[in-house]
Amino acid sequence: MKNLEAFRSLISKPAAVVIVTHFKPDADALGSSLGLAALLKKLGHQVSVITPSDYPDFLAWLPGNETVLALAKDNPAPEAKAAALIAKAEIIFCLDFSNLTRINSLGDMIRAASATKVLIDHHLEPEQFAAYEQWDPASASTAGLIFELIEELGLKESVDAAIATCLYAGLMTDTGSFKHNNTRHREFEIASELVSRGADPHTIAQKIYDANSLERLRLTGYVLSEKLVVLPQYRTAYMMLSQEELKKFGAQTGDTEGLVNYGLSIKNVTLSVLMYDRKEEIKLSFRSLGNFSVNELARKHFEGGGHRNAAGGSTKLTLTQTLNKLLEILPLYQQQLVQD
Ligand code: 5GP
Ligand code: MN
Repeated sequence: MKNLEAFRSLISKPAAVVIVTHFKPDADALGSSLGLAALLKKLGHQVSVITPSDYPDFLAWLPGNETVLALAKDNPAPEAKAAALIAKAEIIFCLDFSNLTRINSLGDMIRAASATKVLIDHHLEPEQFAAYEQWDPASASTAGLIFELIEELGLKESVDAAIATCLYAGLMTDTGSFKHNNTRHREFEIASELVSRGADPHTIAQKIYDANSLERLRLTGYVLSEKLVVLPQYRTAYMMLSQEELKKFGAQTGDTEGLVNYGLSIKNVTLSVLMYDRKEEIKLSFRSLGNFSVNELARKHFEGGGHRNAAGGSTKLTLTQTLNKLLEILPLYQQQLVQD
């Protein structure tokens, strides 16, 4: 962090702290939040973790999960509580996202809040709204950035097994279990530090990856056998899921996570796209290999963004219109897609 000494003094006396992460948090978002929350509590702060939406059951075991205030579509109570916490917060940490529009109503509350804002994130093209930033797009995970900040502050000895577990969960998932091209030597160093402090790789992997419901596994089978389409001329694979299909498989939050990766596992596929109907919007997930930037694709055409090889977006179109839009866009990128 650039202004580390000022940040050190900011957190040197107990304060009312709010930690916020992105809509539909994943393991990096939630693990970072809970890991940082536990550390700040140890330093004497009063900490609340707020999520703009619910999140998958396979994250509910993370230490500290029971303290999370999650906003809900059909219940205004948590939102009112969140507004009060944000208004009286002295420090607000924004983790694993860098654009206040990604957190719905919480974005405006945070913009208006008098608290000192701190951004810790690794997504491309961040919005400038924070007084302090621990931002590095080369880092595979926000959890890793939090560990590095803890290290810079000389607080490594405060990292206990619970904190290490939360941070390892984020590091493991955002690197695709240390196999995505964002996995540097540094990720292994951080992983090693976390494991030496009590994170157990097997248990964490099992709790996150081997927690499928039968319905979720059947949904995966259905998508692979019926819904996966390959367009060899664009080296692209796509999958599309309607509300009816999701309902048929009793899909819960998080059940579609990871599906998009199957597209990229096909030989000669450079771009994989998952589109599904979230009722209020069509959500898109993009993955690519090599130089093809899905951050750019998502940002330009689907109101989204992310990283070069993993990004997301959304549309207010119908599912069919969304597919048509994608099919119109692909020819613009054909050369880039077949080059890699
Ligand atoms: P996923 O496809 O797993 O939902 O997201 C892939 C990456 O893109 C993650 O780093 C995620 O935070 C980011 N991302 C997903 N959806 C959006 C979006 O709508 N806007 C932005 N800016 N980033 C997104
Ligand atoms: Mn992340």
